[in-house]
Amino acid sequence: MDPHHTDPLFARVYTQPGEQPARGPSSLQLAAGRIAQISALSDLPASARHHLALPALANAHDHGRGLRTLAFGAQDQALETWLTELAYEPRVDPYLRAVVAFARMVESGICAANHCHNTQDGRQLLAEAEAVSRAARDVGIRIAFAVPFAGRNSVVYGPLEPLLKQLPATDHARVHAMRRPSRSLQENMQLVEQIAALEHEFFSVQYGPVGPQWLDDGALLAIAQASAADGRRVHMHLFETRPQRDWADAHYKHGLIQHLDSIGLLSPRLTIAHAVWLSLDECRLLAERGVTVSANLSSNMRLRSGVPAWRNYLDAGLKFGIGLDGMSCDDDEDMLRELRLAWRHLGTQCSANEFSLADLFEAACVTGRYSITGADGGGRIAAGAPADFIVLDTQRLYSDVLDPARSDELNLILARASKRDIARVVIAGRTVAQDGRCVTVDLPALEARLLEDARQAMLAAPVDAAAVSRLRDAVAHYYAHEALHCACGDSTAD
Ligand SMILES: [Zn+2]
Repeated sequence: MDPHHTDPLFARVYTQPGEQPARGPSSLQLAAGRIAQISALSDLPASARHHLALPALANAHDHGRGLRTLAFGAQDQALETWLTELAYEPRVDPYLRAVVAFARMVESGICAANHCHNTQDGRQLLAEAEAVSRAARDVGIRIAFAVPFAGRNSVVYGPLEPLLKQLPATDHARVHAMRRPSRSLQENMQLVEQIAALEHEFFSVQYGPVGPQWLDDGALLAIAQASAADGRRVHMHLFETRPQRDWADAHYKHGLIQHLDSIGLLSPRLTIAHAVWLSLDECRLLAERGVTVSANLSSNMRLRSGVPAWRNYLDAGLKFGIGLDGMSCDDDEDMLRELRLAWRHLGTQCSANEFSLADLFEAACVTGRYSITGADGGGRIAAGAPADFIVLDTQRLYSDVLDPARSDELNLILARASKRDIARVVIAGRTVAQDGRCVTVDLPALEARLLEDARQAMLAAPVDAAAVSRLRDAVAHYYAHEALHCACGDSTAD
C-alpha cells in the first residue's frame, strides 16, 4: 500500500476543535503533503462511519529515549537525584533508541516533537544526530533536534566540595569526570552547522542550551547572538525545580530572567521547557518577548518538580504547548491522556472562560507545534495546511452514551479518548499509524532489537551500581543540608 494518499479520506472533521463545530461527513483530499480540499458528503461510507478527524498533536518537549527510564532502573524521584540514576542507561544503537521513541509517539497521535538530545557519548554527537535524523525520516515524524550545550554545574548546582565530602575518595575521580564538559562552545557551534547539513522535511536543528544553571553566561550570550543572526530556534530547560530557582536567585542579583533578557535570549524564537517556578512578573516579561513555554505536567509530577505555573501563564498571556518529556503519567507516551491531565489540572486553576477547550487544542496542536516547526500553518485542518491529522474511531467513546445528541463531543473525547481510539495518524499526507500501529517501521521488531542491544550493553559494560547509589545519596544530602552552597554559584573549575 502506498501510504501517500491519492484517494480521499472520509470522516467528520474538527478543523479547529473548540473554535469550530465539527463538520459533518466530509472527504479530505490530500496532495503533496497538504490538505488540498475538504468537501461535504451526504454520508460516510460504512468503513468510516465512526471516524472523526482532528489536527494532530505536538509533543513540545522530549528526549527521544526508546528505553524508558524505569526500564533501565532510574526510579521516579526528585529531578536532582534522578539525574544521577540516568547513569544506568545502557549505551545502545542511537538509531534504535530514537526510532523506537518516535514510532511510539506517532502511535499516540503526535506529528511533531522537540527532541532535546541527551548524548550517550558526548564525543559522538554528530553520529548520534545522524541516527536521529534517519529515525525521523523513517518514521515520518517532524523532529526538531536541540543540540545540547552544557558546561557548568554538572552533578550539583554549585561547588563540588560539600558533595565530595560525602563520598569516599575513590569516587572523586568519577565525579570530577562527570563534571567536565565533553565539548567546547566552539565545537558545539560547529556541530550545529554540521547537524544542520542533515536537515530534511522531518528533521531540523535548534540550539539546545540545556539549562541556565548548566551553561555559563558567555555561552548563553553566544547562542542568543547566533539565533538572532541565523533565525534558528532555541530550546532550553528553565526553572524546572526549586533548587534551580534557588540557585538562580542566589547567582543573579537582578534575577535570571532579567539577565536572559539583557543578553537578548528572550525572543519569539525561544521555547522554555517546564517553567514551573516562574513569577507573574517574569511570565509577563516572557510573554512580552514572545517566548513559548513547553508545559510538562506528568514529568513534573513524577520528578517531584512542582506543577506548571498555569495561573501565571494565563494572567500574563504567556503561550504554552504541552510536552511528555519521556515521562508520561502512565509511562505509555499517550498524548491524549496528557491532554486530559492538563485539562483537568488547568480546570482547578481557572474558570472555563479563562481557558476553554479551544485553548487546550490550540496549545496542544498549534503552539507546541510552533515551538518545533516555526509558523507553518499546521495544527489546523484547512485547505493548504500541512496534512497532519489524527482520525479517531469514536465507537468505544460512545458505547454507553444513551443520547449522542445530548453529548458534548469534545468533552467526551477529553474525558475518555486515549491512543487506543486512534484509527489513523497522517503526517505530511502519509499514513504513519493505522489501528494503533505504526506502519512506517516495524515497532515490535525494533523494540525487541533495542532490548537485546541494551541487555548486551549491560553485560559488556556493567554500571557500578554501588557508586551510582552513593552519588545519589550524596546529592540528596547536598540539597537537603548544603543548599546554601548554591549561593556561591560555582562553575566548571573545581
Ligand atoms: Zn527534559
